[in-house]
Amino acid sequence: MIERRKTRQIKVGNIFIGSDHNVSVQSMVNVDSRDTEGVISQIKDLECAGCDVIRLAVPDEDSAHIFRISKKSGIKTPLVADIHFDYKLAVASVKNGADKIRINPGNIGEPWKIKEVVESCKSFGIPIRIGVNSGSVEKKLIEKYGGPTPEALAESALNEAEILEKFGFSDIIISIKSSMVKSMIAAVEIIASKSDYPLHIGVTEAGDETDGILKNSVGIGSLLSRGIGDTIRVSLTADPVKEVRAGYKILDSLGLSNRGGIDVVSCPTCGRTRIDITKIVREYKAATANIQTHGKKITAAIMGCAVNGPGEAREADFGIAGGDGYGLFFVKGVPIEKITEDKIVDKLIEETIKLAGS
Ligand code: SF4
Repeated sequence: MIERRKTRQIKVGNIFIGSDHNVSVQSMVNVDSRDTEGVISQIKDLECAGCDVIRLAVPDEDSAHIFRISKKSGIKTPLVADIHFDYKLAVASVKNGADKIRINPGNIGEPWKIKEVVESCKSFGIPIRIGVNSGSVEKKLIEKYGGPTPEALAESALNEAEILEKFGFSDIIISIKSSMVKSMIAAVEIIASKSDYPLHIGVTEAGDETDGILKNSVGIGSLLSRGIGDTIRVSLTADPVKEVRAGYKILDSLGLSNRGGIDVVSCPTCGRTRIDITKIVREYKAATANIQTHGKKITAAIMGCAVNGPGEAREADFGIAGGDGYGLFFVKGVPIEKITEDKIVDKLIEETIKLAGS
C-alpha cells in the first residue's frame, strides 16, 4: 500500500483532487478548438475511456463557449480551460462553465488582470492549476540557476502560487512538467517538500506512443510509487484516448486504481514456444479493449509453454499455456482442457466476457 503525500483537497467539477481521493487521470482535447462538433465528439470519447478531467485550449473568446455547449450536451466530466496570457479568456471560460482554469499568473500581466481572474474563480468556486514547464520559467530564474533546472522550475511554480495567494486565493493545483524525466522528478520532489498543494504530474513533450509511455511510466511511476502526485497526464503525440489508457495502466501497476479492467500476463516466449503467442496476445487485446469489467480486475495469462506457464501464472484468473499446435486452458493455475491454436483467442474472449458480466 502506497502512503500518499498529504495534501489539501481541491474540488474540480464533480471530483476532488488530493491525497484523500484517487489519483485522477487527465488528458487534453487535440481537435481544432473552432470545430465544436469535433471537440464534443472527442470529449465523449475521452469520457467513455474513463478520463477524469479533460483540458481544452481556449485560444479566443468564441472557444470559451465550448464549456456551456458541452454541459448542455450532457458531458459530466470536469473540463479545464487552458489559458495563455489573456485574462479575458479565463473570465469568459469561468462564466461559460469551465470547472478549472489552467494559467500562469506571471503571464497574465498587470495585477488587476490577475485579480479579475481570481475574483471570477472565487465567485464560481473554480480552482486554478498553475502550470510551469521548462519553457515558461522566468528569465531571472534561468539566470539565477543557470538554466531551467529543477530548482528553477520549483521556485517558478511557488512564485506563481504566491501571486494568487496574495489575492487570498489558495484553491490551487500545481503542475511542473519537463520533457526531461529526471528534471521533472527532481522539481516535483522539491515542490512536494515545500507545499501541500495537490500536484499534477507528467512528462511533457514526451514523444510518440512508444517513447511517451516509457518516459511517463518512469517519471510518473517513480513519483507515484513514493506517494507523490495526485493527478496525472501521460502526454503523447497520439490519440488522447491512448493517454488515458496509459495513465490507468500506470495507476493499475502500482495498485492505485480501483477501476478494474483487463490485465494480460504474457510470457516473453523462448525456444520452447510452439504457438504464435505474439499474435494471440495482439488479437486478444484488440478484441477485449472495450469490454467493461464493472470495476472488476480480470487477469488473463497467455504463456508460451506448459512447463512453466500454469505455475508462473497461478495468480491469473485464467489463461492458456502453449503446446504444439494447441493451448492448455487453465483456471487459477489448474489445467482444464486442451484448445486448438485457432480457437485459443475465442476461448480467452469467452472467458473474459463471462467474468466481466458475472
Ligand atoms: S512460459 Fe515457457 S515459453 Fe514462455 S518464456 Fe517461460 S519457459 Fe519460455
